Amino acid sequence: MTYDLSPRPLNPAPKTPPMTWPNGAKSALFIGFDVDAETAWIGNNPSNVDRMVTTSHGGYDARVGIGKILELMDELSLKGTFFTPGWTALAHPAACEGILKAGHEIGHHGYLHKLPERERLEEAFEEIDRGFEALQNVLGVRPVGYRAPSGENFPELLAYLAKSGIRYSSSFRDDILPYRHASHNGIAGPVEIPVNFAFDDWNFGMSSRTSPRPLFGREAVLPLWIDEFEATHDWGGVTTLVLHPQVSGRPMRWHSLRDFLRHVQSKADVWIATGQQIANHFEACEAVSPSI
Ligand SMILES: [Zn+2]
Repeated sequence: MTYDLSPRPLNPAPKTPPMTWPNGAKSALFIGFDVDAETAWIGNNPSNVDRMVTTSHGGYDARVGIGKILELMDELSLKGTFFTPGWTALAHPAACEGILKAGHEIGHHGYLHKLPERERLEEAFEEIDRGFEALQNVLGVRPVGYRAPSGENFPELLAYLAKSGIRYSSSFRDDILPYRHASHNGIAGPVEIPVNFAFDDWNFGMSSRTSPRPLFGREAVLPLWIDEFEATHDWGGVTTLVLHPQVSGRPMRWHSLRDFLRHVQSKADVWIATGQQIANHFEACEAVSPSI
């Protein structure tokens, strides 16, 4: 494979013209969870399947994490989006049904959490198809939102997602407002609800034998999240969370997340919405504004 390294914007999506949030809100909060379970450990490293302690990081999701996160969301009367790999739904149907029954949105997060690679198109497309199939069979849902497993994407995959009925993606890191993807030949893709890597709990709270990282406690994470949220709020953007029950469903992190969410809720002018609600709102703005 040869690579086209010619200078050009590598994401051809047009910029978002000024847009407002519903109900006079100044900014939006999108609470997104990635229910990776064991797929985070076996999707890109299949030999880990026989390493029970390594995969037990992901096993925390179904045993403890998902339930504790649902408890928190219920306590605070919040709804979020749970991006769920198809494998997770098949392996842990009861835990995933609990998410659905609690009224949260289910999003697509691949089948086995494989990093999408442009050099293996067929495999990347198969991950999409199998993910849809599993979520349909286990939960009876066909998601409209997609977060890329391991956070990667490329033009053919964006086009395949749009063709498959995906209306929004939430993986890119290049904006603080939603925008509409476009291919280099101008064909519209899904809406993007961009993420801020500062709100990915894996960066602060996951360490393992095979991937040792420094761990950061509440005194580091909570002020970082509050400061970043407040600044995003001032700029009128969307604060997108990338949380994992196997991280934020741990005892200390659960309390930090609770304190962060309560901080956001203490402000009257934040629109807290699921990915689908944000995509709906963006599409409504598009419909009335030819400049979007
Ligand atoms: Zn994931």
